[in-house]
Amino acid sequence: MAAPVAIRGQRSLLRQIREALAGGGPAQQRLDMVVRIIALSMVAEVCSIYLRRANAEMELFATEGLDLKAVHVTRMKPGEGLVGEIMRLGRPLNLADAPEHPAFSYRPETGEDPYHAFLGVPLLRGGRTIGVLVVQNRTERIYSEDEVEDLQIIAMVLAEMVASGELMTVGELEGVELAPRRPERIKGSKFAEGLAYGAAVLHEPPVASSQLLSDDVAAEQERLDAALSGLKDQIDRMLEGQHGLVDASYDVLETYRMFAHDRGWNRSLEDAVKNGLTAEAAVERVRSEHRARLGQARDPYLRERLHDLEDLNDRLLRHLSGDGSVARDLPDNAILIARNLGPADLLEYDRTKLRGLLLEEGSSASHAAIVARALDIPCVGRLTGLRDQVSEGDPVIVDGETGEAFLRPRADIIRAIQARIEVRRQRKAEFAKLRDTPAFTRDGVKISLLMNAGLDVDLESLADTGAEGIGLFRTEFQFMVSEELPRLGGQTQLYARVMDAAGDRPVTFRTLDLGGDKVLPYMEAEREENPALGWRAVRMGLDRPALLRLQLRALIAAAKGRPLRVMFPLVASVDEFRSARAFVETEVAWAQRRGRPAPSRLDVGAMIEAPSLVWHLDALLPMTDFVSVGTNDLMQYLFAADRGNPRVADRYDFLSPPALRAMEAIQRACAETGTPVSVCGEMAGRPLEAFALVALGFERLSMPATGVGPVKQMVLSCDREAARRGVSALLKSSAGSVRNEIETLARKLYLAV
Ligand code: PEP
Ligand code: MG
Repeated sequence: MAAPVAIRGQRSLLRQIREALAGGGPAQQRLDMVVRIIALSMVAEVCSIYLRRANAEMELFATEGLDLKAVHVTRMKPGEGLVGEIMRLGRPLNLADAPEHPAFSYRPETGEDPYHAFLGVPLLRGGRTIGVLVVQNRTERIYSEDEVEDLQIIAMVLAEMVASGELMTVGELEGVELAPRRPERIKGSKFAEGLAYGAAVLHEPPVASSQLLSDDVAAEQERLDAALSGLKDQIDRMLEGQHGLVDASYDVLETYRMFAHDRGWNRSLEDAVKNGLTAEAAVERVRSEHRARLGQARDPYLRERLHDLEDLNDRLLRHLSGDGSVARDLPDNAILIARNLGPADLLEYDRTKLRGLLLEEGSSASHAAIVARALDIPCVGRLTGLRDQVSEGDPVIVDGETGEAFLRPRADIIRAIQARIEVRRQRKAEFAKLRDTPAFTRDGVKISLLMNAGLDVDLESLADTGAEGIGLFRTEFQFMVSEELPRLGGQTQLYARVMDAAGDRPVTFRTLDLGGDKVLPYMEAEREENPALGWRAVRMGLDRPALLRLQLRALIAAAKGRPLRVMFPLVASVDEFRSARAFVETEVAWAQRRGRPAPSRLDVGAMIEAPSLVWHLDALLPMTDFVSVGTNDLMQYLFAADRGNPRVADRYDFLSPPALRAMEAIQRACAETGTPVSVCGEMAGRPLEAFALVALGFERLSMPATGVGPVKQMVLSCDREAARRGVSALLKSSAGSVRNEIETLARKLYLAV
């Protein structure tokens, strides 16, 4: 009977295995030695190693105890036999009487008849099973928990050594699928436009196999304890709201705390360290087991918990690394691969080398996506199973136009993408030539093209694009990428930098638009049933005037007597606008009382994002100095379709009669009252949509920096009057969408859309 003491505390076993594996001689001989060592120390009559072939079959590679004739002959398909079952489940199988198990499949060539007790554990790498390690005994018995743990640790060391190429040369391993090799194409969601081809860089790389084994258990235990208590303290502080570095909401934090204090988790980590792993390897070991196990779960709740656990593991690794920094050196054409990125993570990488970003999760409103767009780095997210299918250095393509990732693409796909990258480059060069050309339509109407911004990095684009100003400065971005609530000084400095960079060009600052999909980690937020319809934007500002007033104070201070434009997001009633405007006036008076300069000119505007206002423009417009239509929100509310939910977000067309009629009503009311109006949703940055807006009479469009060139090209070739006639006829259409008709119209007018 296997005695757990045989390897408990006996780290030398892991060393022996390592030495056997790393020693000279043919790989087969070394593997044979390893199974012998394991069998001996586990007091097992049989020990076998199966490795995964590219066709997903598990092949017997070495055995002690079974018939040697079966080596390289016995193969199990996924789900076939007990080995196939372990591969399918990604977790250990511990059986007193293996032949009784329904999945048991008898292979006469192995001569395994007399063995009853069976313990098999997966060789895991990331969330993939690359092999199976089995021990068997004649007697009927269940292996103890300690034995299962021991075998799993051995399996981890084996998996890392096999996968790192230390064990066998590539030639010897031919046909063994240690890492995915086939080309894969994964469909995700577009987070940031553009195309990129480069080499995969893992944001969370696996622990190097040379750093798996520790020399000093006590020291390693101390490191683990220190990191665990650091982690617990950090979570407690986060929960108390005293510290800012969090990218999770309150109930996620509660779950973290639960896990962090979970004895099972703590014990698994400690056991792994006791058995000779480094603290980092222990985290990896427990993590890959959870990933393989929970990754199978269909239940969305369980899958969510897996994400929480992953976050916790990442945090623990950071505590272990001590420096807290995540960024690494990059190759020249890096495509960063991550599950998700926290605030500021992306900004830590060298932008000159970063070509693209692929995320397993996230949303287009997530921090990483916001920063990627600001940096003009193509990004695709929600790529299910991404990290399990890609290894460091793999060639990968980010297709931000279709929302796809290509892993290890075929040569013809690479050629096609390179051609598309070249076309984009040429188009960009053409747009750059238009930078200083004013945007007049062919019939002489001046269209002002402005830029949307929100981060310091955006300011560089202001000069590059030739935008006439910033039509929407999203002040909440500073809050979202900060680790704690930006104070008066920090806000003032940013706003001043923006105004300095803009010079004479106007900047429209939008007050904090938080809530909905934009949650601040360090602000306690109640969970809402319908966040998009909830306590957000100006509603929050009016209920928490301290925050709003602080921001207005920062804006007035940053203006230092220059003109100031401020607008409020998601105003849904004229009363809200009235109250919000009163705060601006109070703050200006406050500054003046203290002898500080008031803005030389003050324009206060409202965003039109709530459909209610479309039917109250006659009351609203006289109170405002300008308005700006936020089509992202206006359309989500008009069509009752959550803009952040990929299942419904693309279901309704902005180029449809209801959307265009709403826009036309706004434009007409503004023209009648002489109220300056702009459009600042993403729609304004897409040439065809912008064409429709110009046709409806809009003359100020604010868009992402990348939209300015293409939209200007459209404007320069557009005959506004002809476009107006064509589009107004389409407003009466009974079709659900008039996109095709608008496209035909644009083509007929020879527009570059
Ligand atoms: C909009 O809703 O169109 C808009 C510009 O604001 P945001 O996208 O920041 O909500
Ligand atoms: Mg909005």
